[in-house]
Amino acid sequence: FVDGVESDAPRPRLNLTARRSRRRGGAFAGQVAVVTGAGSGIGRSLCSELAGRGARIVAVDVDGPAAERTAELADALTPGARARRVDVTDSAAVEELAAWVRDEYGVPDLVFNNAGIGVAGPFLETTAQDWARVVDVNLWGVVHGCRAFAPMMVEAGGGGRIVNTASAAAYLPSRVYGAYATTKAAVLMLSRTLRGELAEKGVAVTAVCPGPVDTGIVSHARLSGMGPVSAARERLDRLYRLRGYTPEKAARRIADAVADAPEIVPVTGEAHVGLWLSRLAPGV
Ligand code: NAD
Repeated sequence: FVDGVESDAPRPRLNLTARRSRRRGGAFAGQVAVVTGAGSGIGRSLCSELAGRGARIVAVDVDGPAAERTAELADALTPGARARRVDVTDSAAVEELAAWVRDEYGVPDLVFNNAGIGVAGPFLETTAQDWARVVDVNLWGVVHGCRAFAPMMVEAGGGGRIVNTASAAAYLPSRVYGAYATTKAAVLMLSRTLRGELAEKGVAVTAVCPGPVDTGIVSHARLSGMGPVSAARERLDRLYRLRGYTPEKAARRIADAVADAPEIVPVTGEAHVGLWLSRLAPGV
């Protein structure tokens, strides 16, 4: 890790003025970005961030009205945003989405496979159903997204980017989020594998690994009612207040990282997130 960023190649550094002018000028101007899990949290903020930099957004979520709201917000920044209600666990529906996007917008420049759910609890208390659900959304959802969009991006002659949302949890064994972390480690390896394969064909694949971000996913995890999780949640709340990890900040960092160096795997939280997590869950 260098500055919280894992890299195959030296990271090109932009000075502050260049970064600001990229933001103002819109590094994504004229591009079409498909974002799954766009109905809330990081996905919604990412849509606003990318639209603010000139991208036309396709906001995708299993929650249709939430996706519609995100599209409205993005459309106000860059006209042309649309919403689609799609369950990413349904491969046929994701294929249909890809065909729809190609018909309506052409081959997209950016695909963010960001939809995800949290499942919390120690291994011995995690049911087979919990495993099936979290693997279905977090891993299969990303596989379906890559399978649906990558071929058309390759066929178009390259230039596109696929960005999969993994997590800092992908690196950190945890007694609290074991099943979730397992899916995220898989997303990271999928992204690395695909990156090698598609780089030759001109399509860049990246995984982003956010640290803790204050979104619904963490509250949902709390609903599972696990003792260690509520203790962890209290500490997380303190961490959020201290560090200000908002979805907006995460989205800004993700967009910056993707704009600057599409081939890297950035950790958009902090490098010391491992320290925080080990305090949250002693013994990880
Ligand atoms: P969130 O719950 O606010 O947003 C997730 C969105 O995904 C929701 O709008 C939800 O409706 C949607 N979704 C869930 N299942 C879906 C499905 N089957 N098909 C389509 N959409 C579906 O959570 P978030 O924190 O914004 O999470 C976004 C991504 O970031 C997830 O992949 C998550 O694992 C990852 N992440 C989050 C954190 C964090 O601390 N919040 C940290 C690291 C990684």
